Amino acid sequence: MAVLQDTSLQRLNALVDWLRDRVPFYRERLPDARLKNLEEIAGLPFTVKDDFRTNYPFGLFAVPLGEIVRLHMSSGTTGKPVVTGYTRSDLEVWADCMERVLLAADVKPDDVVQNAYGYGLFTGGLGFHIGAERIGCTVVPTSSGVTARQVMLMQDLGTTILACTPSYALVLAEALGELDVRRELKLRAGFFGAEPWTDGMRGQIESGLGLEAFDIYGLTELGGPGVAVECHQHDGLHIFEDHFFAETVDPDTGKPVARGKEGELVLTSLTRRGTPVLRYRTRDLTILSDGPCKCGNPFVRMLKVRGRTDDMLKVRGVNIFPSQVEELLLSVPGLTGNYQLVVDRTEQKHDEMQVLVEAKEGSGHDRLAEAARGRIKEMVGLTVEVTVLSPGVLPRTEGKARRVIDRRELDG
Ligand SMILES: [Zn+2]
Repeated sequence: MAVLQDTSLQRLNALVDWLRDRVPFYRERLPDARLKNLEEIAGLPFTVKDDFRTNYPFGLFAVPLGEIVRLHMSSGTTGKPVVTGYTRSDLEVWADCMERVLLAADVKPDDVVQNAYGYGLFTGGLGFHIGAERIGCTVVPTSSGVTARQVMLMQDLGTTILACTPSYALVLAEALGELDVRRELKLRAGFFGAEPWTDGMRGQIESGLGLEAFDIYGLTELGGPGVAVECHQHDGLHIFEDHFFAETVDPDTGKPVARGKEGELVLTSLTRRGTPVLRYRTRDLTILSDGPCKCGNPFVRMLKVRGRTDDMLKVRGVNIFPSQVEELLLSVPGLTGNYQLVVDRTEQKHDEMQVLVEAKEGSGHDRLAEAARGRIKEMVGLTVEVTVLSPGVLPRTEGKARRVIDRRELDG
């Protein structure tokens, strides 16, 4: 779209000026010349997660704290958290983007939105909150956790829209199944993000909760959710290109990757003022698709994220993503999306991967294990040990699921 390209180029040049003038970190790195076309962005430096850590807490801020009205940050389980700041206008833009996310499912003022994303420093809770309020929905800010109360409120309040992590959606589906109350609910759509999930998982969430599941995308470094959302076609997520400029690059060389080919997603926030980010390396692997979408939305689509470059496991020389294993497990009827991968190294320095997965029923586990082992061997070329467990054995999570336990790091 030529109009969009002109807008993106204008906004990109304005952003480069803004960063050069205001953030010493960028001033040292950015050239003085203006970009003549969007392709020239490939000559500008990347921003990486470590840059947030080295400049913690306010080094990447482009306005004085007096203009910042909100801070959010990542969980910071390893080292210092990533801090992002919002001006009043940033919050307006965020609310606009989150409104757009919800409109993908035709959310209206009479919808009851149960927001089971965590409220607090995490962007998910308050992000959905401001978007739903902008539309005028009835927002129920349950935050994450207390599953029995979530289910009670869904029933009593007639919740129509659910927002939470996909792994917590499975926990809720399970709770509904046990109580056998799904038919009484009014749920019709749900928004699930903050961790990658597969189409196999979509089937489990949709049948378990009785709703249409939408994948969303965003990350703290770019201000949280509200970067991209699926349309009703569920064939990739439309990126809000008027606010975010998207590229894909080769994760090893950083060189641009052609549209239609898999690469690491790199995002630039075009309209943020508080902590705008230039060419942020998300470490998420995806394909950008220019092809027209049946829904008519001209924004480029990012296909479902296959995994994060740092989630990729190397087991006996084979590269494997947890999402690949998830897809294969869910292709075996009788298995669920509750799984864990345990990677260990034997005394002979031999890598071993054990797959723990729950079955839907308490019996027939040997047959299911054999089927899963066969599928993984066939599709990934790796012989792994599969242990099928009874329903409810693996730990449940209210936020992001811990899918991989890599014991190799412990003994070097
Ligand atoms: Zn579409």
